[in-house]
Amino acid sequence: MKKSLTLVMSLLMVLAIALSACAPAGGSAGGDDVKTVGISMPTKTSTRWISDGESMVKVFEEMGYKTDLQFADDDIPNQLAQIENMITKGADVLVIAAIDGSTLTDTLAKAKEAGVLVIAYDRLLVNSANVDYYATFDNFGVGVIMGTQIETGLDLKNQPGPFNIELFGGSPDDTNAFYFYDGAMSVLQPYIDSGKLVVQSGQTGMDKVSTLRWDGIVAQARMENLLSAYYTDKRVDAVLSPYDGLSIGIISALKSVGYGTADQPMPVITGQDAEVASVKAMIAGEQTYTVFKDTRELAKQTAAMVDAALKGLEVPINDTKTYDNGVKIVPSYLLTPFSVDITNYEKYLVESGYYTADQLK
Ligand code: BGC
Repeated sequence: MKKSLTLVMSLLMVLAIALSACAPAGGSAGGDDVKTVGISMPTKTSTRWISDGESMVKVFEEMGYKTDLQFADDDIPNQLAQIENMITKGADVLVIAAIDGSTLTDTLAKAKEAGVLVIAYDRLLVNSANVDYYATFDNFGVGVIMGTQIETGLDLKNQPGPFNIELFGGSPDDTNAFYFYDGAMSVLQPYIDSGKLVVQSGQTGMDKVSTLRWDGIVAQARMENLLSAYYTDKRVDAVLSPYDGLSIGIISALKSVGYGTADQPMPVITGQDAEVASVKAMIAGEQTYTVFKDTRELAKQTAAMVDAALKGLEVPINDTKTYDNGVKIVPSYLLTPFSVDITNYEKYLVESGYYTADQLK
């Protein structure tokens, strides 16, 4: 009797060990099966990332997940520490918008070892095999929109020109910046080649026009230098800016030398993200365009991808060719960006509920 009881007990122990070995790595600590999603956003200085983070918390929690949202203040070691802490605490999923997409290789290896699902959020994670999916917008398409905005704003198809333009790029540690620039140049380069658009500074190419960390102050200083070096006796007719935060700096530089009056109107200026301050600048006639990327949709799409992956279902993706991260082509879902200006901002931004009319006053 005693012998068979011991036998049953040892069998039960073997069974328990076998079962625990089957539990997925990175599974929620504490035994409940509610999964935790670590959400790592780069900074709060740009309102878009705050909206991204908040939208994701909402969508994931509605779907029954726990969330851990952290902002890294554009500080790379801070982002590394936050993500490593998420892994240690047992996150099942990491959704990461990197400050510098190349700095997380070791951390992502640790995530993979712990069985964590990794999603690159809007910004590609490079130099790592340990990125499962990429949720973003059509980034080359964003650039094409900006180029087309300048083409429309200056009516390049019909006007003889020549017009003066200066070019700004995003942060060189963010692959998006290259897609935006290349997309814009796919529209603008033929006009530069024909002489209808002239870059008086001669500064073209991402090696010359990029703006580290998407910093508006850096863009403002560069615009001030361009204006004093090349435009004391000429007018700048257009400025390619890939982000609203840069456009704000560029506009300040322009205003400081007298642009923005009836005699000296603002050049055509692009932007991206439809941030409140820039939509207000558009309404005030200072910024001409922005590109609206609905962060609510990106959050929903990301959650749908995560949910499908965790349940072993087919993960919704629509691009398997574009995003080579140096180690692999990351399966991606690209959402559609929209061109926004004074004529349609109400439809895209207010009627869609993205902002209230009051927020834009
Ligand atoms: C995003 C843009 C944003 C920029 C600066 C890029 O990675 O795709 O939407 O304007 O970062 O935050």
